[in-house]
Amino acid sequence: METMPMSEWVTLEYKKMIQDVGKDNLLICSLPIGTTENDIPSELLALGLQWTTLQLDTLHKEFPAFTNIQDKKMCLLDPRGETELSCDDVNNYKVCILGGILGSHPPRDRTKELKDKYPGLLVGKRLGNLQMSTDTACRCAHYILDKQIPFENIKFIDYPEIRFSKREAIEMPFRYIIDETTNKPILPDGMLKLMKKDSDQSIDDLF
Ligand code: SAM
Repeated sequence: METMPMSEWVTLEYKKMIQDVGKDNLLICSLPIGTTENDIPSELLALGLQWTTLQLDTLHKEFPAFTNIQDKKMCLLDPRGETELSCDDVNNYKVCILGGILGSHPPRDRTKELKDKYPGLLVGKRLGNLQMSTDTACRCAHYILDKQIPFENIKFIDYPEIRFSKREAIEMPFRYIIDETTNKPILPDGMLKLMKKDSDQSIDDLF
């Protein structure tokens, strides 16, 4: 299978996820067969990113800490899940699975493909019904399970407008967690700069 370079966007999200949960608690799996270290951005390797081409049902062979899917301790974070992830779920699951990676708007329900692929083995849990960026969903689950902060106590901003100049702004089609000290959405470091580069606009007057 042909390998694809990780986009800058995804790289920044993964970096943020390592910062949030720690390198030992994050594993990027199901990368295309043939992926080598040369395909992984060096900044992620430097941070100790764990990655594998193994799929969910075999990764326990090399990464036993991430549990065997047969044990039903993997929780699929799914915006269409039937119930909300709760603080008590820390007793029910060892691993959270994030799928879909890049969000499409409107969401195309790609996360569900994982549930269809492993029938009866993954329970879908919701973090509210609005699509979050992947790093936000990871952070939200980390708050709920590791920090024991209930979902309803986490402050969010939906579809924030990122303003580059008086006339140019983009609306991000995701829900983000608010940083309570700055009152701004938590974005991966470098993301605003990347958006600016992508849109080739001035970053003046941001927010
Ligand atoms: N476009 C994808 C879809 O239609 O399923 C979703 C992509 S989303 C940016 C990336 C991942 O974050 C999802 O696969 C899911 O695991 C997680 N996620 C995002 N919002 C979520 C929510 N409200 N509840 C549970 N998980 C969520």
